[in-house]
Amino acid sequence: MNRKSLQDICCESTPSAEGLHPSRSPIHTSTAYVCDSPDTAAAILEGRKPGYAYARDGHPNSDQLAAKCAALHGAGRAVITSSGMAATSLALLSQLKSGDHVLLSSRLYGRTKTVVKELEKFGVSCSTVDVYDLEALAAVLADNSTLARQTRMLIVETISNPMLRVADLREIAGICRKADVLLTVDNTFASPIACRPLELGADLVIESLTKIMNGHGDVTLGMLCGRDDLFINMAETVATWGMTAGPFDCWICERGLSTLFLRFTAACGNALNISRQLQGLSGIERVVYPGLSTHPDHKKAASLLRDDSGKVVPGNMVTIQLTGGLPSAERFIRDCGVHFVPSLGELTTTLSHPASTSHKSMPAAEREALGIGDGIIRLSIGIESPDYVVGAIRDALVGLDFQGVSNVR
Ligand code: PLP
Repeated sequence: MNRKSLQDICCESTPSAEGLHPSRSPIHTSTAYVCDSPDTAAAILEGRKPGYAYARDGHPNSDQLAAKCAALHGAGRAVITSSGMAATSLALLSQLKSGDHVLLSSRLYGRTKTVVKELEKFGVSCSTVDVYDLEALAAVLADNSTLARQTRMLIVETISNPMLRVADLREIAGICRKADVLLTVDNTFASPIACRPLELGADLVIESLTKIMNGHGDVTLGMLCGRDDLFINMAETVATWGMTAGPFDCWICERGLSTLFLRFTAACGNALNISRQLQGLSGIERVVYPGLSTHPDHKKAASLLRDDSGKVVPGNMVTIQLTGGLPSAERFIRDCGVHFVPSLGELTTTLSHPASTSHKSMPAAEREALGIGDGIIRLSIGIESPDYVVGAIRDALVGLDFQGVSNVR
């Protein structure tokens, strides 16, 4: 039988736990389930028997959403967690022990770095590495130092925030495999429509479902999927650490996922259209989008970011650098019809200012070295008409005095 397409997996409805098949999934809000006997309850809770006993240990809405996410990623197993950060914590807690070392890509979501650093008090150390320099990465892991021997995991984002660097996951996975290091990929900016890291050799994949997977800005959820042998006792870890997601959020997200393929591909088309229109506007020094030939990872994006029909889908995030730094950014945000929202992946276009939000805790010099100056604005492109978004941006640019740069068109 043919493998189902990503679009079909998104749209498909799932049979309910009772074997009924309503056309859309019902919500099971109960926190506990009536069990035949104490033995049955124990067997369910210990995972020896299928079924449900206590919602923190598992419930149908979470399992249905997990099954859909696993299918999208071509994974044997997936679990749903109460946030993207809970999924990251789960990857760490389930795989690491005291004495282990974690390598972090130098371009990671700030909170991911923070949570790994928190593990220092439990004897887990970490350091950063430039994963876009494959030779340097191979050298770090080939090195027979104590650190290289202690390294258990590398964490990388498929598309980084906000400069949208694309990680060469196939090559990185090869380097990790040789060094016996687990490759954990945060795929939030790509979604499984653009990238399925397990197919490229990753061991674990994290999605913040809060973002484009749900896509409507109305739930906070996460997902972890990966190799079957890494998932032994995973559900128990979720329940024990209290990372379980609520049924209503899972139900909402399953509904959001139904349109993921359509939303994501439409938003990618808009992102390319908008990024082309923004290039050359006075007041914008640089437009960063992996779909543009000017992006340093344009070729990598064309090879790694594809849907299952092979169409290149370089994501829905576009970053612009305004002329004039912080004062320009502040006025632009104030005057722009696109909403400033410190998140991404919503139905409509939103903007964010990394220097004052996601990268606020980073020392300015370090931030600048990564190209994330005060004039950087990150756009999360939605599915409204691209001309509306470009119009709102043009309007916000008009009249700004970019330190003497004429903005008259
Ligand atoms: N990973 C990335 C790339 C993110 O941008 C975020 C949040 O912004 C997270 C993970 C954490 O997700 P959540 O907010 O659902 O905990």
